[in-house]
Amino acid sequence: MKIRSLVSMTAALLVLLAGCTPAEESAERQFFAMDTVMSVKVSGPKGEKAVETVCSEISRLDALFSRTDPDSDISRLNAAAGSGTWTTLSGETAEVLTMARAYAEETGGAFDVTIAPVMDAWGFGTTEETYQVPDGETLQTLLPLVDSQKLTMGEDGTSARLELAGMEADLGGIAKGYAADRAVSLLEEAGITSALLNLGTSTISLVGSKADGSPWRVAVRDPADESGTLCVLELSDCALSTSGGYERYFEEDGQVYHHILDPKTGAPAQSGLSSVTVVTEQGTDADVWSTALYVMGTGEALDFWRQEGGFECILCQADGTVLVTEGLEGKLNTEESGDGYTFEIVRR
Ligand code: ADP
Ligand code: MG
Repeated sequence: MKIRSLVSMTAALLVLLAGCTPAEESAERQFFAMDTVMSVKVSGPKGEKAVETVCSEISRLDALFSRTDPDSDISRLNAAAGSGTWTTLSGETAEVLTMARAYAEETGGAFDVTIAPVMDAWGFGTTEETYQVPDGETLQTLLPLVDSQKLTMGEDGTSARLELAGMEADLGGIAKGYAADRAVSLLEEAGITSALLNLGTSTISLVGSKADGSPWRVAVRDPADESGTLCVLELSDCALSTSGGYERYFEEDGQVYHHILDPKTGAPAQSGLSSVTVVTEQGTDADVWSTALYVMGTGEALDFWRQEGGFECILCQADGTVLVTEGLEGKLNTEESGDGYTFEIVRR
């Protein structure tokens, strides 16, 4: 699975970069962080230094948020769960946890970083993947531990506590988006006006347009074909994220089980969607909302889009109907789309 997803990411990256004309001067780097292959491309004379800044910032955040490094902020927080002690955190970890709590509330619990114990029961949580279908009783025991309201932030703003023994936080659904926003801020501070960040598994942030002034062309993967294209979006200055059950899954007795879990049932979300793409200003919003909308399913996802405002989305349904919200109408190109998809524009 690891190799498969590396290959698919590299393929996605090639698709993504295929439409780019080489800039006069640009710097580019691929690196491994947050359990995935990332790439940064920055145009202009300051590109090399900017790429270096982005890489070291993302590695720094990775070390704070990692669940496998026992010294990370998140590991220390998890280890202290239920003990009543506060864990002192870096400003960034405190900030991302505070945001995560707010996202849980805003999405009606569809997104919840305290999903970790249930992720582990399925074998999705750790890097040593030992996939298994947990029995109903195990899930019922673990579900009370999935509750962001029992992730308490200290009044000092630099500490947190998980109230129940056995609770654990996993930032897998938010860390890449948060890292993208930090990276974009650093690039903007450095005066960069054209950059593309691909933080792996379809968490993409775009600074400005391509060096030649034309929009970036971003291919959204066909959920049914890892080297195929669902559609191409022409975008500038925004963030996008795609969540799909195909990123990590296993099969047992002819059933497919994937890594996006419904916190209400503890089982892989079965919402009739095969992928969700969110396009918005902030990477953190894009990363979280693509996961949350995938859990919600079409009806709730469109209600959320109408109420929340400020973002657009593509809901690829398992029946092949692809719902595209109206703000993306002029940016959508379906020339390279795989067979069997029909596109419908959704109005507010
Ligand atoms: P990817 O990490 O492949 O880009 P997503 O952004 O959709 O995929 O996030 C999936 C990751 O988020 C999972 O690997 C897991 O760590 C975590 N996760 C799974 N389900 C949820 C959920 N309902 N709420 C919050 N995080 C989740
Ligand atoms: Mg996500």
